[in-house]
Amino acid sequence: MKILIMTDLEGVCGVYRFEQTREYGTPANLEARRLLMGEINAAVRGAFDGGATRVVVWDGHDGSKSFLLEELDERAEVVMGIFSSWDLVLSQGFDGAFLLGYHSKSHTPRGLLCHTQNSLTWDNYWINDRLAGEIYQEAILLGAYDIPVLMVTGDDKAVKEAREFLGDDIVTVQVKIGLAREAAIMYSPKKARAMIYEGAKEAMKKIGKIKPCKPKFPLKVRWQFKDSGIVDRYRGDAKRIDATTLEKVVEKPEDIFYP
Ligand SMILES: [Zn+2]
Repeated sequence: MKILIMTDLEGVCGVYRFEQTREYGTPANLEARRLLMGEINAAVRGAFDGGATRVVVWDGHDGSKSFLLEELDERAEVVMGIFSSWDLVLSQGFDGAFLLGYHSKSHTPRGLLCHTQNSLTWDNYWINDRLAGEIYQEAILLGAYDIPVLMVTGDDKAVKEAREFLGDDIVTVQVKIGLAREAAIMYSPKKARAMIYEGAKEAMKKIGKIKPCKPKFPLKVRWQFKDSGIVDRYRGDAKRIDATTLEKVVEKPEDIFYP
């Protein structure tokens, strides 16, 4: 059984301020990335102990350059860097995916490090008039390749959002509780890893039982930015519906991310 682990950084236990996720290579950022690697290895161990034969981990945070490879479980493979055809990875016959270290959508009350795609420039984001975030985006992309999301990890708001969009059958692992956008109650990283290990093993049992997320296309997608100047400079074919908002009817899953 082949498992794909998509990662983000904001939902990792021990990560609770943007200083850790926005500024690359600082001591705070390196600490966050070490914590990420600990959670990845826990998920990889759980997947293999649950019957996986191949585990590929895809670095999904800002520019896809966050993994510290020396720390990676030697059985896992990784995808890093930016490339145009996600098909190259997603078409390799994965039986399921984990979303590890995810966060809630923009403006989630007490959602830890909540944002959608860009925490500095993006505001709200809708799919078919429903406010949505990155968890739903990833699930739709994976669903297009018949890959179901089996497990989501993150703070309490992220896992709640995952259940709202993907249903209660998925495994969720809550590694912290958001008190504010940059404040949390957290477990020790060791405990979070133990929970993720158990969650991953449990998630392996869900293969074949959870359906991929496949909303009917075309989808109406709306992007609201924090600054009208961003839309002033926009050159694509989405429709401007007010000073800060673009809207587009999209036919393909890879087009739901950016206008
Ligand atoms: Zn991120």
